[in-house]
Amino acid sequence: MRADGMRVIGLTGGIGSGKSTVAHLFAAQGVPIIDTDDIAHALSIPPSPVLDQIAQVFGPEYLSDNGSLDRARMRQHIYAEPAAKKKLEAIFHPRIKDVAIQMLNDLPDHTPYAILAAPLLFETGSYSHIIDLSLVVDCSIEQQIARVQARNGLSKHEIEAIIASQCPRKTRIELADDIILNETTLAHLQSTVSTLHQRYQD
Ligand code: ADP
Repeated sequence: MRADGMRVIGLTGGIGSGKSTVAHLFAAQGVPIIDTDDIAHALSIPPSPVLDQIAQVFGPEYLSDNGSLDRARMRQHIYAEPAAKKKLEAIFHPRIKDVAIQMLNDLPDHTPYAILAAPLLFETGSYSHIIDLSLVVDCSIEQQIARVQARNGLSKHEIEAIIASQCPRKTRIELADDIILNETTLAHLQSTVSTLHQRYQD
């Protein structure tokens, strides 16, 4: 907890669980959201030290002509060579964490609480000292697949591979302080978020 009492809630969940939707619902209540995906995106805009290091570690061919990350090439490389994923994470994660801490510190005094939205909250293991409690958005794997298919048309096989690369559902639930079961309507999700919002403000 920050000296002024601000708490940090770590929000996570598997792909398609509804994390982003939940983050938007908290944001609509005026809660500051710090999103590690947004930070990763900002760190990947050229010119950036992250991209310089990627070129150094992986080779300049992993950057496109305009200096941005060649995501398709990197994805292929990581797929073929799992150790490369670790190397890439070692470049990104410490920096993402530093920026997240800075952003949390910069929030106004007497902010009751903030949300740190981190898809890899448990996978990276580096957020346990930053957050006061974790909030997991959960739903069945079938629903994860159906939602992601509807969202961006990935194949069932591709989505299953992503799910398999993430923290297992059971582990995530075991690690959670709070759980939102997002298996019904958006209206129900909204009311669950409102209830949690009241609690987190106290
Ligand atoms: P995540 O950020 O965890 O990948 P999203 O919040 O983007 O998941 O949700 C995945 C998709 O499912 C989105 O298109 C979202 O609008 C939809 N969705 C999430 N929760 C519900 C729900 N309770 N009812 C209907 N659609 C939902």
